[in-house]
Amino acid sequence: MDRARKRKLGNRYLTILPLLALGLVSCKDKEKEVVEEKPELAIVEPKENIEFGFNLDEYVVRRDTVKSGESFGEILERNKIGYPQIFHIAEKTKETYDIARYFQKGRPYTILCSKDSLELPKTFIYQPSLEEYVVINFKDSIHAYKSKKPIKYVEKLATGVINSSISETLDEQGISPVLTNILADNIYAWTIDFRRLQKGDRFKVIYTDKYIDDSIYVGVHDVKAAYFEHNTEPFYAFRYETDSIKGIVDYFNDDAKTLRRAFLKAPVKFSRISSRYNLKRRIAVYGYKVKPHKGTDFAAPIGTPIMATAAGTVTKSSYTRGNGNYVKIRHNGTYETQYLHMKKQNVKAGQHVNQGDVIGWVGMTGYTGGPHVCYRFWVNGRQVDPFKQKLPAAEPIPDSLKTKYLEFIKPIKYRLDNTNFKPQNVEDSELTQPEIRQATS
Ligand SMILES: [Zn+2]
Repeated sequence: MDRARKRKLGNRYLTILPLLALGLVSCKDKEKEVVEEKPELAIVEPKENIEFGFNLDEYVVRRDTVKSGESFGEILERNKIGYPQIFHIAEKTKETYDIARYFQKGRPYTILCSKDSLELPKTFIYQPSLEEYVVINFKDSIHAYKSKKPIKYVEKLATGVINSSISETLDEQGISPVLTNILADNIYAWTIDFRRLQKGDRFKVIYTDKYIDDSIYVGVHDVKAAYFEHNTEPFYAFRYETDSIKGIVDYFNDDAKTLRRAFLKAPVKFSRISSRYNLKRRIAVYGYKVKPHKGTDFAAPIGTPIMATAAGTVTKSSYTRGNGNYVKIRHNGTYETQYLHMKKQNVKAGQHVNQGDVIGWVGMTGYTGGPHVCYRFWVNGRQVDPFKQKLPAAEPIPDSLKTKYLEFIKPIKYRLDNTNFKPQNVEDSELTQPEIRQATS
């Protein structure tokens, strides 16, 4: 064995030591778990209080959050650790996790102290995020490691019949508004206008909720599948990975067709249509003369990002007295779009933009009574109402994946189809709502 190899082995041996110690701890825990599995014992013995991989019952546990301007060293000093040792700890742990550098006001930390009269700190645990935690062991040899709390995804199914709005329908069932956003802005952004839902529209959604440590609810993780009935027309959506290497995931319907259109329904999120395309509009200030409105106005607060509704090339980014700051985009030989009254543009003529790119911000420049974006849509040089157009679909699912996809969605579709809506109708919903609330609270 040569010297270099010996040194290497030596180093490895050193780094294994703390791991061995850890291994012993976890073996011990496993033994206890086995004992617990016997049902008669499980009832008598209280459950072990495990967190961060430690049995908290074996320590005096001190929990707090980092205060403004407080340093790692100050906290240690307050907990009976002297300066030479603090310096030593900081140096030793720098490589694994430079705690002093990432220490942030408001983040929680936990100190595990010996369960004796001295109450000496044995372990320091810092939580840079809800999921992650850093453990610094002071006992025996100092070492640090990063770990993550166990994450659990729970699949859920929600159904509802819309009375006023989808968010209200979900809210009544205690479901996060994030689910509405995923449905409205991601899955059905191209097929259903969520600002124009009808009373009686109904839906079923299979989604996953994310939990940390079995108990902390993080939120809706994603939607696996959905069925949305709008104006009695059914729209299925199934989440499918079309490229596992690049991790490309998209939603397709029960016919393997894409739900995306080449154009977004609206250039702004969370807005309302304040004025529609109307060739016979009469306006009071013009003596009720016909003043056609060839755009669709989306009212939104000043500064709201305006998105390109489709990929294309910016042909104009300029100003006129009527339009104010505006952007015009040519998408192909057929389609053009224009966005008026911007506070400020974010693109220059000649620039290529992708669908969803921010091209400017909502403002009040030009002739306008309030903050909005006037969205104009051209087909072959003629201004039309984009909501009356059969817009082209985006890229379909590749032929090579179609059979596999249809096979994949079969059991999911079966589950959706065999789930009943609740409540069944408007009258029922009014009667059963209080009961539902009671059952969930
Ligand atoms: Zn307008």
